[in-house]
Amino acid sequence: MAAYLGIWRYTKTLRIAMIIAHLLLLVLTAASAAAQPLRPFEAPILAAVDARTERFGQISRQIWEHPETGYQEFKSAALLRDELKANGFRITENVAGIPTAFIAEWGSGAPIIGIIGEYDALPGLSQQDIPQRQARVEGAPGHGCGHNLFGAASALAAVAVKHHLESTRTPGTIRFYGTPAEEGGGGKIYMIRANAFQDASVVLAWHPLDRNEADNNPWLANVSGRFRFTGRSAHAAASPDAGRSALDGIEIMTHALNLLREHVPQETRIHYVITKGGDAPNIVPETAELSLIARHPDQRQLESIWERVLNTAQAGALASGTTMNFEISSSYTNMVHTPSLVALLDRNLRATGGVHYSPEERTFAEALRKRMVDLPEDLPLGSEREIQPPRRDLVYASTDVGDVSWVVPTGHFHAATFPPGTPLHTWMSTAAAGTSLGRKGMVVAAKTLALSAAELLHNPQLAAQARQDWLKSINNRTYKSLLPADRKPAPR
Ligand SMILES: [Zn+2]
Ligand SMILES: [Zn+2]
Repeated sequence: MAAYLGIWRYTKTLRIAMIIAHLLLLVLTAASAAAQPLRPFEAPILAAVDARTERFGQISRQIWEHPETGYQEFKSAALLRDELKANGFRITENVAGIPTAFIAEWGSGAPIIGIIGEYDALPGLSQQDIPQRQARVEGAPGHGCGHNLFGAASALAAVAVKHHLESTRTPGTIRFYGTPAEEGGGGKIYMIRANAFQDASVVLAWHPLDRNEADNNPWLANVSGRFRFTGRSAHAAASPDAGRSALDGIEIMTHALNLLREHVPQETRIHYVITKGGDAPNIVPETAELSLIARHPDQRQLESIWERVLNTAQAGALASGTTMNFEISSSYTNMVHTPSLVALLDRNLRATGGVHYSPEERTFAEALRKRMVDLPEDLPLGSEREIQPPRRDLVYASTDVGDVSWVVPTGHFHAATFPPGTPLHTWMSTAAAGTSLGRKGMVVAAKTLALSAAELLHNPQLAAQARQDWLKSINNRTYKSLLPADRKPAPR
């Protein structure tokens, strides 16, 4: 009996223990499901990107090896266009009459999720993929803004999403926007004017940088102008009284401009170069030219600052007895953010994770960082592995993705393609953009884009929510570009 009771007790204890263990398992499963919502698309999307990283990595390197500046990106655009076409995308060429602008899309109906790609290079930044200053071709362009990675990652994401939609028979459209001439040429503005973005539900974009973060800051609206002064030439010693110096016009203008700086809002930026100042000191300059960019995070304020810049030019002409004319060659708006898209990108960046360097890549990053000045203390080497919270402090730069954000809800983020601290538009960023460090950041970008696009396509309610949020953000204001309506796309 005692033995029987012993067995009974033992069995009972075992049963209770099993019930407790089972309950515990249920609680743990529920807790982990709450922390990580079930996302059946996540693993197949990440696998679809992984399967193509080598191919698109090669494309990014090919674009890096053949850097082409704005509106001249014939080879770069063709590489991306042909790859998308080979993956079954329908191609619309010559968008807005621009030979290097195109749209590639797959699927049908709503939601239409667009992914932006850029591929233009910067003049004079040719550089080898080594951590010392050495040009590949002296004086030639280079990818100092990492647009070789930008275009390739975005196309990779579009292709991965297409294959996922196809295999899961998910309705909707995935669209790649091939947008030329971001560096001052404003390709997207002409594409907006050609209604290329009008029917998109949501557009996603990213930019290569030295950190991973969803973007939540307004960037700077800008206006680029060219001011030409015309006077009267004369012998500068024999008959200076007969001359009217165009250079004097510019000098008076820049003096007034530099006084103006004290009386504009803090965040304003005004920078200029004198592109023509005369030919010889013994000739009173008949013509002179100044190229200027003014920027402010709010386009409405920028408009009034721009009026005052024009006044300084008119003052220069009046006081020097010359005539002045100007043209606006480029103008970008500030960026409008949609809170639910900031959250979407932050969520998917975290699901993707940051960049992990191999020992050789770390050595490269250390060597490059030795060449940098004023390294940010909050971005040590190793921070490329982390995801930063969305930043609200100002980025002092401009992009024509800002213009797109006024016509369609737009989500924007950064991926760490460059070692922490690397400044953009330098030989250092050009070098990193050609290496495996850059390509690892590119994969982070492609995965984040693809996960976000898939989430929007599987859950169209999210796209509808984004539109509601976006309407609140733009608050009844309408898109206005300061670029003249008759301006045509042209290389700078
Ligand atoms: Zn740039
Ligand atoms: Zn850029």
